[in-house]
Amino acid sequence: MICKFHSNLLCFLIFNLLAFKPITAQTIYGKDKYIEYSLGKLPIIISVPHGGNLAPNDIPDRTCNNPTTVTDANTIDLAKKIDSVFIVRTGCKPHVILCNLKRTKLDANRNLTNGTCGHPIAVNAWNEFHKFIDTARFIVNQSYPNQAFYFDLHGHGNPIQRVELGYLLYDDELELDDETLNTSQYIENSSIQNLAKVNKNNFSHAQLLRGSFSFGSFLAKRSFPAVPSQSIPRPGINTNYFSGGYNTVNHTCYNPMLDINGVQVECNFQKLRDTPSNRILFALAFVESVIEYMQVHFGLNLSDCNKITNVENHNHRPPIIYPTIVGCNGILNIMNIKNAYKITVYDQAGQLVFQNEDFKDQIQLPEMMVPGIYGLKMEMEGVMYNFRIVVLD
Ligand SMILES: [Zn+2]
Repeated sequence: MICKFHSNLLCFLIFNLLAFKPITAQTIYGKDKYIEYSLGKLPIIISVPHGGNLAPNDIPDRTCNNPTTVTDANTIDLAKKIDSVFIVRTGCKPHVILCNLKRTKLDANRNLTNGTCGHPIAVNAWNEFHKFIDTARFIVNQSYPNQAFYFDLHGHGNPIQRVELGYLLYDDELELDDETLNTSQYIENSSIQNLAKVNKNNFSHAQLLRGSFSFGSFLAKRSFPAVPSQSIPRPGINTNYFSGGYNTVNHTCYNPMLDINGVQVECNFQKLRDTPSNRILFALAFVESVIEYMQVHFGLNLSDCNKITNVENHNHRPPIIYPTIVGCNGILNIMNIKNAYKITVYDQAGQLVFQNEDFKDQIQLPEMMVPGIYGLKMEMEGVMYNFRIVVLD
């Protein structure tokens, strides 16, 4: 049916989506599945804070500080379609973090106080949402240091039907000329400030915002108008343009503790989020734009994702540890053991957790390990291999 009305490309894609053998995917849920994290292998992190529909009675509706409670309709489905298209196009998944709670109960793109109004169940879900993004960033950084990109995905209700990209620059700042936007004052307010300082072609900040190789221009050339871009370089004043919110401030390099670049993506409704086929068309345009963006600015071919491992190259086959995400008291399997090995596990503060010398192909984690991210060093035949493991409840 759908193929009758759309391009051959869409038919090809739908065919591939239906025919594609699912890759092994791991999803971690927070308490009562209010928050959901689908782990990936690409250096791409996507969060969806406002698409949820769960409205449990034990969380009161938010009323503190005059909250906005409107749902960004169909954004969770849109993210799932983007996820599927990434798998089809690259063979790998992005990291996707979803808030399944309705925005009346939790706003995961506000600070803790305003987002939860202090209710303990909402506070727990808010913490899970942000910790899952932190975890995704940590995992991505193992294989792609300084080469990851974060998208906070939303839907806007503004009358002009265009994608609004928020790099933390306000509408009046985007009125300024390129020369001014290229001064350190504006670069240092930007969620792509690290990319503006180092990128493959030495593009300026303004070129990255609205030049022909900007993300907005990549979407626009695939038939989804976006601002800022070469054709719409500034949103205009009084258009209620969204410049980026709490997540973009706290989960990108605007936060001086982080390396990762990112942007808030506000999708219009008509001809984008409104129907399943339009969401697939946008997912296709979005994924192609991300692939091009990562290639042009980071020199990364996302289709190489299956070649990337967190182990340095050596002449013989390196050991493999799996799963890298385990429950407390879990078991790690080890492949490609050549000889006796020594394992050292330490926590994020660098404190020794345990050591083990062995020649078995399984390691039982000790009971005392608390949930968190750990470093694991394996020394075998005089070579040191580094791994990361995530221990869950
Ligand atoms: Zn939103």
